[in-house]
Amino acid sequence: MGLKKTIIRGGLETLYFSGLHHLMRPLVGGVGAILTLHHVRPPRSDAFQPNRLLEVSPAFLERLLRRLAKARVDVVSLDEMHRRFVENDFKRRFVCLTFDDGYKDVKRWAYPLLKKYNLPFALYIPTSFPDRLGELWWVALEAVIAQNSRIGMMINGKEQFFDCASVREKRELYDAIYRYLRNMKTEDELRRVVRDLAACHRVDMAAFCRDLCMSWEELAEIAADPLCTIGAHTVNHPMLKKVPNDDTARAEMEMSRAVIEAALGRRPEHLAYPVGDPTSAGPREFRIASELGFKTAVTTRPGLLFKAHRDHLTALPRISVNGEFQQQRYLKVLMSGAATAMWNGFRRVNAA
Ligand SMILES: [Zn+2]
Repeated sequence: MGLKKTIIRGGLETLYFSGLHHLMRPLVGGVGAILTLHHVRPPRSDAFQPNRLLEVSPAFLERLLRRLAKARVDVVSLDEMHRRFVENDFKRRFVCLTFDDGYKDVKRWAYPLLKKYNLPFALYIPTSFPDRLGELWWVALEAVIAQNSRIGMMINGKEQFFDCASVREKRELYDAIYRYLRNMKTEDELRRVVRDLAACHRVDMAAFCRDLCMSWEELAEIAADPLCTIGAHTVNHPMLKKVPNDDTARAEMEMSRAVIEAALGRRPEHLAYPVGDPTSAGPREFRIASELGFKTAVTTRPGLLFKAHRDHLTALPRISVNGEFQQQRYLKVLMSGAATAMWNGFRRVNAA
């Protein structure tokens, strides 16, 4: 497992950013990439870290930034990326660095490195997080399972119990409940279940927001740096596609922009859809973001940028450099001999 992780980590960075042009030939058609990161912090030693995929170490980030700074690509702001699309200016390949959710560790560990290499970056902020009303339900679920050896949970009106004493049981239970939650029809249902779980197992959900996310003061400091772009990421961080009516989905995007403008004095022109996979953002969301006048909006659908994305600027794919799970998924594709199929897949604009 360790070896596999190393290969994919090195592999992804190498494929995209080193001088190994023969490996990059299939990518030549692409004009750039947007990278997604969440947490940046020194690794913890806990064996049970189901959200490990959402973090990279400062050392890993520095290696990546050093390579980017040396590579023949421009690291650009979201505004500059937008300009290149609008003006059809693709003389040089480009990369945008984006960090979702506004975690304190990004300010502490990533920001000094971004300054050191003088690289522009964007933070996508769900406004309920600095407002201290955010529910980081995936972190709460991790805490409930980490702190207990047996969990009770209402499923279809019946209380069921699950053993989770060992690390293995914890991992399996986390995956099962996470899948169960993500498959729920509405975000409201999901939140209700996690709130219940947290309350029953004495986990303080509000604490995660306070402890992990930047305050408005911290955001104001980092937003003052010309390297930093603040983007909207809704108010409550819901999977927008599961929001039942258009008006609520629209309000989530519009309100977050208004709140950020009121708090930081600058109106965000870029948006990221929370979670951002096809179950969380689809044609309706792409249309609303465009109607609201966002210059660009990003998903977490994996892919490089192509000229054709010019007509789909509110449905842009990103490449995740986070943690392990997603990279392993790439590894499987690479190792299965379907690499060319993957690269070809990347060429298609996927806005459906
Ligand atoms: Zn997010």
